[in-house]
Amino acid sequence: TPVIGVLALQGDVREHLIALAAADAVARPVRRPEELAEVDGLVIPGGESTTISKLAALFGMLEPLRERVRAGLPVYGTCAGLIMLADKILDPRSGQETIGGIEMIVRRNAYGRQNESFEATVEVAGVGPVEGVFIRAPWVESVGAETEVLAEHGGHIVAVRQNNALATSFHPELTGDHRMHALFVDMVRAAS
Ligand code: GLN
Repeated sequence: TPVIGVLALQGDVREHLIALAAADAVARPVRRPEELAEVDGLVIPGGESTTISKLAALFGMLEPLRERVRAGLPVYGTCAGLIMLADKILDPRSGQETIGGIEMIVRRNAYGRQNESFEATVEVAGVGPVEGVFIRAPWVESVGAETEVLAEHGGHIVAVRQNNALATSFHPELTGDHRMHALFVDMVRAAS
């Protein structure tokens, strides 16, 4: 059984731990480099990407995260987690850093005030229709040649994969539908 960590600096950690357990993984929170070293895969939750970035730096996690992702650790980022996996943010707050791993440019809070939070059915390649919960969500403005687009909504990219890195603008951990987590657990199994 794969052991999958959830980066537990800020955000909806608990919901991911529950979803991963439901998808037959052993799930545990990860805050320190020693804990990161022990997992076969890592989820980066939704929350606030500037805060996660600052806490990752403060906890000495930014470089260890970058190194392990570069070395092929399977990672799955939702919403703020997607932002953390982007090689580039279009409109970063000052001092905002990312881990990187997916060749893409993301736009934070892309849906604007009128539509800050909403739900929509999203067709995810290889998974099927998924109920997408978008909360002050980013979208992916553009992707590199190696990045696979898994879903679009309203003409914008909202789910991507590049090698061992998976990311969604929306929050499958909030719906009770564990297919996205199951897809990630399969990626972790295939990589271990
Ligand atoms: N708007 C948040 C950010 O920029 C993301 C929101 C979320 O994770 N639900 O980090």
